[in-house]
Amino acid sequence: METTPERKVKLRGQGLSATRPRLELLQILENDPRPQSIEEIISSSSGKLALSTLYRAISELLDAGLIETLVSPDGKTLVETTLQATAHHHHVFCKGCDKAIDIEFSDDLEKNIEAEVKNIEISNGWKVSDHSIEILGICEQCTVR
Ligand SMILES: [Zn+2]
Ligand SMILES: [Zn+2]
Repeated sequence: METTPERKVKLRGQGLSATRPRLELLQILENDPRPQSIEEIISSSSGKLALSTLYRAISELLDAGLIETLVSPDGKTLVETTLQATAHHHHVFCKGCDKAIDIEFSDDLEKNIEAEVKNIEISNGWKVSDHSIEILGICEQCTVR
């Protein structure tokens, strides 16, 4: 968990001033480091972030590369910080509530995926830059319901 001064340094390092909404957003994402929905962020901010302010902060931090967004299978936007996550990871989505968690594959599996990706490049003449793999399921809370 980073401190507020560290977050200010990160923002300024990206040419952004350390405004309250930007700091608030980063702190919320770091407090619960998994992809979070707009509704979850708003409720974690306990009234400190208005929806329009949040959207603006998200787009600014996204441009600066400090956060990433992903879209759930139902089309919901989820936001996660890039400051502490391991660079390459995957997501499991709950089809019941749209919650997502971060997961990492074993090195062996990643190597196999990379090898397959090489084949795709060769057989299609594409240049592949990255891969993203989504796993879908039902989370613990939704199973109990
Ligand atoms: Zn769920
Ligand atoms: Zn991977």
